[in-house]
Amino acid sequence: MEYEAVIGLEVHAQLLTKSKIFCGCTTKFGADPNTNTCPVCLGMPGVLPVLNKKVVEYAIKTGLALNCEISRHSVFARKNYFYPDLPKGYQVSQYELPVAIGGYLDIEVDNKVKRIGITRAHMEEDAGKLMHEIEGAVTGHSYVDFNRTGVPLLEIVSEPDIRSAEEAVIYLQTLRTILRYLEVCDGNMEEGSLRCDANVSVRPKGEEDFGTRAELKNMNSFRFVKTALEYEIKRQIELLESGGTVAQETRLWDSSQGISISMRGKEEAHDYRYFPDPDLVPIEPNDAWIEKIKKSLPELPHEKKERFERKYSIPAYDSEVLTSSRALADYFEECVQRFPQPKTVANWIMSEVLKLLKRDNREIENCPVTPEQLVELFQLMEKGTISGKIAKQVFEEMYKTKSPAQEIVRTKGLEQVSDETELEDVIEKILTDNPDTVNKYKSGKTKVFGFFVGQVMKKTKGKANPEIVNKILQKQLKP
Ligand code: ADP
Ligand code: MG
Ligand code: ZN
Repeated sequence: MEYEAVIGLEVHAQLLTKSKIFCGCTTKFGADPNTNTCPVCLGMPGVLPVLNKKVVEYAIKTGLALNCEISRHSVFARKNYFYPDLPKGYQVSQYELPVAIGGYLDIEVDNKVKRIGITRAHMEEDAGKLMHEIEGAVTGHSYVDFNRTGVPLLEIVSEPDIRSAEEAVIYLQTLRTILRYLEVCDGNMEEGSLRCDANVSVRPKGEEDFGTRAELKNMNSFRFVKTALEYEIKRQIELLESGGTVAQETRLWDSSQGISISMRGKEEAHDYRYFPDPDLVPIEPNDAWIEKIKKSLPELPHEKKERFERKYSIPAYDSEVLTSSRALADYFEECVQRFPQPKTVANWIMSEVLKLLKRDNREIENCPVTPEQLVELFQLMEKGTISGKIAKQVFEEMYKTKSPAQEIVRTKGLEQVSDETELEDVIEKILTDNPDTVNKYKSGKTKVFGFFVGQVMKKTKGKANPEIVNKILQKQLKP
């Protein structure tokens, strides 16, 4: 029997506000433990929360970008449970009336568009962080850091429309790119600003009803999401095929062992006793505000990608790569504005520029070579001052030293040699030094032509103008 997977994702995105959701504490990552705290986020008795308007704005912005309906009346609810990282004994979240509902996200799978439904998006506060002393330590203490407590999150829940681990990763990547375009979340999975829980079930292909699902937690990279889902799908299929049943449970992905482990079953599932938070009024955004946020939406990734293909006549693949972040797309457009040869610019950015950035694990925002400087290099190539091959060498030097292209070419003496008399001298010498090869060529073995070009390049340290070298060689080798 053939099985098919059914997957729904719950993604937590940390919103890029300067302060927390209900107090003025900073959201900065990496401070000393418990320094970014106050009585409100520490859950002291008698304190009252004050909602950060930016959080609502970012939530609405994301909701609109995900084609959701924005609720004109939404409510914060208390999700009650005890855990040492939760000082109030409840998490402020949204339950029955979330800020955004009923949207969708289009993803591209095998060059086809697939629409994944978005059930809802809701705002909530993050909990603190627990640190346990590693096994074997004498004391075995656990520590709690409340810096993260009250940092705003947006939870985005998908419909169970995803059918494979690959689709789940594409969905997650597409969502991450949008969040980064909107500048509402930095999308850093390692630092936990983007987290993903996956609900997985399998069913015989063709069957309408869903199977029992397991929820997978703790996958903090795209690679883990892929391997964890593949593992879980396989585990469930094998279980069913051997006559067993899938238990409804929460499972933890252990990336070091490459397996998922049962964390808690349905019986131990929490009863959160949700109820509306009496300290917070309902959120009722008016049309004018929603309209204003709508107008502030940037060109979204798929729109930019289509425009690049149309306006610059570049292949879909190039367009996809160049619009993978807003900053990269801007870099490309700034270059093309000054040097209107889109395909040349695209090739250079995708090969030379991205190669060095990737090597150094850098983003385009921190590229040492500005678009202006890169264009100066293109112009030197265009004028024939340097060859394309030398240009790559010059670019590496620009990247390393931030010096302008002209300066590097001048001080290193890299100008292309286009002087015919100078090249004729070099070529004549090579031909007299290699009479046998010359004879081979003249007797019809024209393949050795490349050997002569190579010799000229070697003699001129790669600076000879290849077109002129070709021309002279053709002439001199004529039988
Ligand atoms: P919970 O609060 O228990 O997490 P939700 O109703 O919020 O439950 O659903 C969570 C996620 O589970 C959603 O993304 C939804 O698409 C997905 N889901 C629901 N049923 C199934 C199923 N049978 N198989 C896979 N995913 C499912
Ligand atoms: Mg869940
Ligand atoms: Zn605080």
